[in-house]
Amino acid sequence: MSDARVGLVIEDDHDIRELVRTVLTQAGFDVTVASSGAEGVLTAKTLNPDVITLDLGLPDIDGFEVSRQIREFSDAYIVMLTARTEELDTLIGLESGADDYLTKPFRPRELRARIAAMMRRPRSVPDQAEAPGIEASVDAAAHPERGNYSHNGLELSYASRTVTVDGTEMNLTRTEFELLHALLEAGRTVRTKADLVRRLRDEDYDVGGYISEADERSVEVHMGNLRKKLGDSPQKPRWLQTVRGVGYRLAPGEH
Ligand code: CA
Repeated sequence: MSDARVGLVIEDDHDIRELVRTVLTQAGFDVTVASSGAEGVLTAKTLNPDVITLDLGLPDIDGFEVSRQIREFSDAYIVMLTARTEELDTLIGLESGADDYLTKPFRPRELRARIAAMMRRPRSVPDQAEAPGIEASVDAAAHPERGNYSHNGLELSYASRTVTVDGTEMNLTRTEFELLHALLEAGRTVRTKADLVRRLRDEDYDVGGYISEADERSVEVHMGNLRKKLGDSPQKPRWLQTVRGVGYRLAPGEH
């Protein structure tokens, strides 16, 4: 098996497809393209890609549905590319399982930056089973402070990328894992939404990158998805406590 990461571009517009293919190839991916939603879902099943760029407006099934279908079997990093600018579309996209979005026309360096931030995160557990622990240990070396956490019946291991709740393993996306880890790490200290956006971009410090209201809303949507998967309650949280107007923090320990 080749070491190269696999990228899948699902896009019906030829010019954009080729642009995205170029960006991913330059970032070191083995790239395959699909020009319809159905073909994209099938290809994702066969290739088990690490990264998928997904056009929202496809000729057969729309990008939301494609994302939902892919999420049933894949934890690939999904970036939605949308020509529409309505915030609502973006949020529906994230609710359907996408990790991130870019509005067309986008700058290639913007896409490169998102992909680069994703690549600095370790791979998921199923991937590790194929390539034992290599990526995870590299990342653990880069981030020695990111270890293991245990809180109210939830266990997280950064090195093995696993989360269990009362002994049951959770199937989280990379983005959800990263957000959960950020809260466990901060303990009862509040993480602002801007903090969490920076964390997802893998910026350890405030380097002055622009964070829009939509970026902060996207954190809310990912937190909502995470909450659903964990079975956590917004009213009586075991883990994810909302601090209204500010951000999130870890719920108090149970006694
Ligand atoms: Ca299109």
